[in-house]
Amino acid sequence: MKEAAAITLCVLAAALGLAWWIERRRRLASEAQQNQALQLERRLHEADLREEARRTAALFDSMVEGIIVVDETGAVRLANRAAGALFGFEPPATGRRLIEAVRNHEVAAIASRLEKEPKILGHELRIEGVGEPRQVQVNALALRDRAGGPDGSVLVFHDLTRLRELEAVRQEFVANVSHELRTPLSLIKSAVEALIDGGKGSPQTLDRFLEIIDRHANRLALLIDDILLLAKLDSGRLRLSLQPLPLRAAAQEVIDDFALRGRARVGALHNEVPQELVATADPDRLRQVLFNLIDNAIKYGKADGSTVIRGHLRSDGFIEMSVQDDGHGIPSDALTRIFERFFRVDKARSREQGGTGLGLSIVKNVIQAHGGEVKVASELGSGTTFSFTLPAAK
Ligand code: ADP
Repeated sequence: MKEAAAITLCVLAAALGLAWWIERRRRLASEAQQNQALQLERRLHEADLREEARRTAALFDSMVEGIIVVDETGAVRLANRAAGALFGFEPPATGRRLIEAVRNHEVAAIASRLEKEPKILGHELRIEGVGEPRQVQVNALALRDRAGGPDGSVLVFHDLTRLRELEAVRQEFVANVSHELRTPLSLIKSAVEALIDGGKGSPQTLDRFLEIIDRHANRLALLIDDILLLAKLDSGRLRLSLQPLPLRAAAQEVIDDFALRGRARVGALHNEVPQELVATADPDRLRQVLFNLIDNAIKYGKADGSTVIRGHLRSDGFIEMSVQDDGHGIPSDALTRIFERFFRVDKARSREQGGTGLGLSIVKNVIQAHGGEVKVASELGSGTTFSFTLPAAK
């Protein structure tokens, strides 16, 4: 009996042991499964965070403004490509001291000021020593953590260099326009005053003053037309009426116009443009281009000189036209500036000839609006050749 009870107890103990062992295995397996699931979830979360960080960095890098995020100890948390290019460091520069990365004490001072001020807006600074000097506007903001404590700052750099250059060009243009308008206007005014003061007594004096008024009023009108046309070209408001345009006939029309007005000697203008050349161009605008170039050839050429207009089809599908004179030529240092507004080699001669100083600038802009380009080649004493391209008609 005792033996049987002992055996039963042993079997029971063994069965309990087995059950415990099975339960433990099951629990371990389930814990392992849970761990695996947690690890997987963590890995997915980390991948999500990495992807998020990558996307933020890509977004930062695609921005034109330079951005630097600094932590509360003054170390860079993140800097984008534009900031790296402005200050000459390799982004993201994470962990570097701000001053080491940007090497600019003014920027470091702005970051320090943010410890006391919540933001600094519109601070302008000049960056020198990294490529061309740049004029930059800085907007900076102090960051706060959830508890409201200091959490570094963010600095945004906006490159104003191009804007400032354009402003300078605009100011110079306005100054030039005012000057150009004032000259004929004051001559007209003087002539009128002289007439009022008794100049109309003699018919010769009257004629002379009226001729002055007429000439300078025409100059004013020309100047205003040129300025308005350039403004339209600049703003892209000029609509070109593109159509197939036979170039020999277009050149001949302008030559005949000069002859009709008595502006050119007979035989001074030669049309050597082949009959078959047809461009895609706006007839009125092309007439203006040819007019300005031939007008210059006459104005700045020799009294007995001649001008030849040529054209040929290039292999790239563009037609190259040229206006060649045998005049005094343009000095080489002036060739790079010749298409600038109001640039003249000889101011007095240009004014005397009724020039506005805008003719070549209009030529360049009109040709560029057609998708072509303008060139000049000149040799002092031998003459000048202006050439331009236009797309050939299909
Ligand atoms: P402008 O109204 O003074 O003629 P442009 O823009 O047409 O203005 O020309 C600018 C300057 O370029 C002229 O003032 C002149 O000094 C120079 N220039 C233009 N064409 C010629 C040329 N064919 N030969 C010599 N100089 C020229």
